[in-house]
Amino acid sequence: MTGGDEEFETIIEPFRIHAVEPLVMATREQRAAAIREAGYNVFSLRAEDVLVDLLTDSGTGAMSRDQWAAIQHGDESYAGSPSWFTFERAVKDLFGFRHVIPTHQGRAAEKILFGVVGGSGLVVPSNTHFDTTRANVEASGAEAVDLVIAEGRDPASRHPFKGNVDVAALAALIAERGVAHVPLVMVTVTNNSGGGQPVSLENLRAVREVCDRAGVPLFLDACRFAENAWFIREREPGQSGRDVADIVREMASLADGMTMSAKKDPMCNIGGWLACNDDDLAREARNLLILTEGFPTYGGLAGRDLEAIAQGLTEAVSHDYLRYRIRSTAYLGEALDRSGVPVVLPIGGHAVYVDARALLPHIPPLEYPGQSLVVALYERGGIRSCEIGTVMFGRRPDGSEVPAAMDLVRLAIPRRTYTQSHVDYVIEVCQAVARDAAGLRGYRIVDEPRQLRHFTARFEPLA
Ligand SMILES: *Cc1c(COP(=O)(O)O)cnc(C)c1O
Repeated sequence: MTGGDEEFETIIEPFRIHAVEPLVMATREQRAAAIREAGYNVFSLRAEDVLVDLLTDSGTGAMSRDQWAAIQHGDESYAGSPSWFTFERAVKDLFGFRHVIPTHQGRAAEKILFGVVGGSGLVVPSNTHFDTTRANVEASGAEAVDLVIAEGRDPASRHPFKGNVDVAALAALIAERGVAHVPLVMVTVTNNSGGGQPVSLENLRAVREVCDRAGVPLFLDACRFAENAWFIREREPGQSGRDVADIVREMASLADGMTMSAKKDPMCNIGGWLACNDDDLAREARNLLILTEGFPTYGGLAGRDLEAIAQGLTEAVSHDYLRYRIRSTAYLGEALDRSGVPVVLPIGGHAVYVDARALLPHIPPLEYPGQSLVVALYERGGIRSCEIGTVMFGRRPDGSEVPAAMDLVRLAIPRRTYTQSHVDYVIEVCQAVARDAAGLRGYRIVDEPRQLRHFTARFEPLA
């Protein structure tokens, strides 16, 4: 179905509510105590103390009636379960890769992939590596390099495909380091850490050409493949009449493999996979899979999860769903933009990114303006968001600390979970925090782990 009445502007949720989850209404004082106890890190809060949880769109979507029904079809045979074949068929139908290797999450696919192809002295270019992708590349000893186009690093640029790879920089990097030192090129669709911005088909084709000339494989970090394809349909010349599933197939046909988190566009609470065409890579990956995830026909998932993913993949490419999804994210972002809150433009697919560095110019990057905004949104309105800036990316593998390219705060929108009135409330809270921005303070880190520090670091407000 691609219809819908064109007479009315409001894009309503193309579903109605079938089961509800209560939210706890806490006071501002209760929230101030909760966040203090959590070391000013929202990852350490109890979820019950959060009113609108925009920490992530990962695994937090609402499954459909048909996904819950599919779960009842789950067959838990250790090997060769019918649920495995249903899953494999659904993945191959959209992406077409010869080998599909199920994992419990996207990062397990990354760990296995870079366990096979990574290693010291190597370099893995991407538009922008997601945090777990970067960590897995670096854990293998390789270097992770971000080569997004210049517009992708400019929060105010309105380029329609700000996730695009800087193709000239990619070719130059491969020439400089030598083909033997570049095991693969990764392209993240949509570009999560760069603002949820899409990558065009034209750019994927150009990256493919560079990879072909060098003989380097191209992999997609495809977590938001459907949202990316919808943007291609809406924004890329000549693509407007196409079926999103066809666009997805074309995106995948330009790559040699993919890593995937089923907690994103496939609308599941868990799951992921690695897929590729290379027989040798697949063989080695399955050996690693058995070591840490499980047998190749379930790979760390229950049969019922495989069923839910297969059904979710059919819903992820529905035009009615994607129109609502992208429009409802833009609704939040455009309202913030209109009220003068600096946001990354154009609005991305799964999230709105507030430019905390611009909103809080009195807080220098190494005092974490993003963290300050995250804490304020929680204390003021119970909204949980996520810093994507110097806390997440500022610590280098050599131990030094540098400001990240941007200090953003991500308001990620779980799929099919919140209604327009939840979003209207979020808009009000953001406006109130922005009005009082001059009074917000910076933070210092009092305790941090060696890797992925944003998940567990503890902070203290500066005087
Ligand atoms: C979420 C995500 C991952 C990792 O997936 P998990 O299922 O969380 O392990 C990798 N890349 C991108 C772009 C993501 O958004």
